[in-house]
Amino acid sequence: MDGMGILRGLGVTFKRFFDTFLDDLVYLGKRYYTKEGLDRRRSTDTRGIFTIQYPEEKLPMPEEFRFIPFLVYDEEPNGERHVRCTSCGICAEVCPPQCIWIVRATDSKTGRAIPEPKEFFIDVDICMNCGLCAEYCPFDSIMMDHDYELAVYDRHAKNIYDKERLLKPVSYYAKIRPTSYAQEATVHVEAEQIKSVMQQERK
Ligand code: SF4
Ligand code: SF4
Repeated sequence: MDGMGILRGLGVTFKRFFDTFLDDLVYLGKRYYTKEGLDRRRSTDTRGIFTIQYPEEKLPMPEEFRFIPFLVYDEEPNGERHVRCTSCGICAEVCPPQCIWIVRATDSKTGRAIPEPKEFFIDVDICMNCGLCAEYCPFDSIMMDHDYELAVYDRHAKNIYDKERLLKPVSYYAKIRPTSYAQEATVHVEAEQIKSVMQQERK
């Protein structure tokens, strides 16, 4: 019969409409802006609207979510920063849209290149968030960030991130990617053990 599709569609809309009020009553005061409410709307049992009230509410990011890369530095006991990057250039080489530029540092006395970046730029407008730079880096120096709120008014001036903008402490990396961090820490410990056994065998 003509018009049945429209009636069925309206029925679905009204069901959602009333389910929303029903769930609002059942979860009075807890359905919005609380973790419980967010979990409820994300569950398969949810009724009514399940939209997120962004930016007041934000979805928790899964650990493997990736956005723009950042450079990791280790926090030394004396408070100094040890930048892990050796400016080897592998990340720039594998980056598909070629949005990484690295300027290698040089020794002020000899003029010879040293294994650290003087400058490190990423054009975040071009970055396609593929994560290849982080996959290929042999020194665990570059990781994919979770921060996706990067809107600016002047993207031409502000969306080419320099070294200072890209640098973040290893504690930040451990916080957003605890599983990857723990796996890498295990690999480093094993590598150190193998190194020490080899050194003892040479003696
Ligand atoms: S981030 Fe990693 S791959 Fe890129 S230049 Fe630095 S050490 Fe090399
Ligand atoms: S995430 Fe992909 S596109 Fe972005 S800088 Fe890394 S390799 Fe390049």
